[in-house]
This record gives sequence, C-alpha cells and structure tokens, in this order.
Amino acid sequence: MLIRRATLLDGAVADIRVGDTIDEVAQALTPDPGERVLDAAFGTVIPGLHDHHLHVYSAAAEQDSVRVGPAEVADAAALSSVLTAAVVGSDGWIRAVGYHEAVAGPLDRRVLDRLAPAVPVRVQHRSGVLWTVNSPGLAALGLDDHPDGRLRSADRTWTEALERRPAAVAEFSTRLARYGVTGVTDATPDLQPDDRPTGLRQRVHYLAPGKRILHDDGLDLDELTTWIAERHRAGEPVAVHCVTAAQLVVTIAALRDAGSHPADRIEHAAMVPQDCIADLVALGITVVTQPNFVAERGDQYRMDVPAAEQDQLWRLATLLAAGVPVALSTDAPFGASDPWAAMRAAVHRRTPGGAVLNPVERISGRRALTLFLGSAENPSRPRRIGPGEPGDLCLLAGSPQRVVDALDADLVAATIVGGAVVFER
Ligand SMILES: [Zn+2]
Repeated sequence: MLIRRATLLDGAVADIRVGDTIDEVAQALTPDPGERVLDAAFGTVIPGLHDHHLHVYSAAAEQDSVRVGPAEVADAAALSSVLTAAVVGSDGWIRAVGYHEAVAGPLDRRVLDRLAPAVPVRVQHRSGVLWTVNSPGLAALGLDDHPDGRLRSADRTWTEALERRPAAVAEFSTRLARYGVTGVTDATPDLQPDDRPTGLRQRVHYLAPGKRILHDDGLDLDELTTWIAERHRAGEPVAVHCVTAAQLVVTIAALRDAGSHPADRIEHAAMVPQDCIADLVALGITVVTQPNFVAERGDQYRMDVPAAEQDQLWRLATLLAAGVPVALSTDAPFGASDPWAAMRAAVHRRTPGGAVLNPVERISGRRALTLFLGSAENPSRPRRIGPGEPGDLCLLAGSPQRVVDALDADLVAATIVGGAVVFER
C-alpha cells in the first residue's frame, strides 16, 4: 500500500510504500495500478509501537474481570459487594484481579467463601503469581480438598483451561491495534512453544524459556549464575525479573560471573540503588521498565517503601543519562495496557493522589515515545521509517509536536502490520 503526505517525527513530509517491509520513502510516489492509497493528510507516521513486556493470555482474560485492588476497593465489605455485583463470565466464573492485602488482609478459600457469592470465584494477587479460589471454584476444578485455595499462576493443570481463550486473545489484539501497537513481547515465564497464544494481529516475541522470576526469600547466586551461563552457552539471552534492590544486586553479580549476552534484559528494575547504575552500564544490559506503575500505584509505594529508598523507585531519566539501554512497556494486565498512558506517566510521574514521585526521573514526551519504538530484538534502539524496516506503522491525526505533547491513544488513526491495515478509525 501507499501512504501519502505523511509527516515523520523529524518533521519531514514523505510518501511511504509499505508491504511486509517498507519498500520506499520518497517525497512523491505514484500509486501503482490497484494499489491501496491511504492519505495521511500531513498527520504523523511513526513505526508501530512495540510493548516490550506484557502477558497476552492474562491480559486477554483480564478483559472480563473486576478489579479489586486498593485503588478500587477500600476494605473487606467493599470487596464483598464488588464480587457480589460482578457478572459471571461465559466460563461460569467470577474473575477478579489486582488484589493486594491492603484491601482485606491475606485471602484463602474460607475468607473468600465468606465474602463472595456461592459461584466459582477466583481472585488474582496484584503480583500475578498467586490466585485464591473459593470452595465452589475448587469444586469446579476437582480440588475440593485443597487446604487453602491458594493456587500458583504457573500451575498449568488449572490455568490452561480457564485462562487461555482464543476469542479473548483476538479481542485483546484489537484493543492493542487501537493503541497503534504492532508488536509485543510476551514475558510470561514457562510459556511452552505449543501453548503460545494464536490469533493476534501483532508480531509476538516470547521471552520464555529465558525468563526468570526471582523471590527475595530464595535468592541463590550460584544457581542463577549457572542458569545464565547455560543460556549463554546455547547462544540465548536471559531476561531476569528484578523488583527489589536485593534481586537486582544478585542479578548484577550473576551476570558479572556468567558474562553478558548483548540481548540480556532486566525486567522492571523497580528499585535501582544509585551504585547499581554504573554496573548496569558496564554490563550493557537493557532495562525494560514500566513508568505506568508510578501513575497506577505510586501512593502505595510512598506508604510501603522507606522514604530514604524512594529515590530508587522506577528510575528512568537517571538510567538514560548514565547510558543504560532502556525500553518501556506496560506489563499488561498488571499495568494498564495503554502504552500512551505509560508514556504520559514517564513525563509527569504523578501518583493517583497527585504527588510527583522522583521528579528527577521525568523524561520528555518525545523520549517517552521513542522508548516504545524499538524492535523485539533490540528494544532500546528506535526503529526508523526507512526502506528495509518492518512494514509496521502507526498513523496519528496530528503534527509530531501535537503527538508528543498529548501522548494520547485517541490520536491513533490507523495501524498497519506488515503492510496490512489492522485498525482504522
Ligand atoms: Zn510481567
């Protein structure tokens, strides 16, 4: 197809001929007979957004869920009324997500039986690793005798049937297309090749089996080092989930011992002590982070994280200034899936309560946008609009200045993957 009168991010105006890759970019191209022509009318054309860390199955399932985090639900009584009012899904379950103990303490099957209606109910913890299921739900899963109803998300014996519905995946893909997203990296650990979601219009890259989650109570430097070295010997990179300073310090030590691969990544880097920044630069490791958590959970961090350590939270500008390769993502469904909201959060860093968390870490709107323009293979390097690049584009209704000032998904006018229009407003 031919896109005419496109304004590129640098202000140049061009016509773009695009198929699976971009064929030509020139001042004025003549349509071939039968070629589809899309008039950008001087709107901005950028490489399609790539969300560098999300979870397709969970995000798809989350679309029919009620949110029961501290932002939505104040206490046990409110949790009970939200669950009672929830619509039972087509799978016969009520599905709730985003739970945190601040709402009603630790959950188990007995607590849920008291608070929730007598239909199958499953509640996911905000961390994503744990579900609590009530007694009717456990009965439906054939787990009547389960001691507490607390089930691991990674346990495929029950997640496979409930959490992986193709129609929901297609619907999630449509939503991503509306945001101008043309590629995603699925960060779900342990996702087997034959379990991968199908039916997405976007290009999908998988971190598994190179993705590891760390837990503070089981940090094992030798074991982590051995695993990283094995992956590297097979020519494969690693992606290590680091949400605490301890996890980051151990990962840095393991990478120092094992050596680093150019495509190694640290996921989240939610807490980065000042003296770790130079280590990250020396390792050349890419940090894939989520500024949207500042906008979504910032007040909770301000309560939970000691004041003296809050400057370590969700760093961005200091990482970039030091020369750490950085890319952005939403971590949907644990973060909201709109990448434009994540960009805005990178610019303002306002918590829901209106405080600005670490103002020194704010970046410009233009910078925030480019951190979503990398490829799956090279997340921190923005793609260009040029011949040979993938034919994945996003057309926005507005000048480049308007786009980077507003960072608003409503400006997305069309989304193109491999030369095919997957969304048009
Ligand atoms: Zn994640």
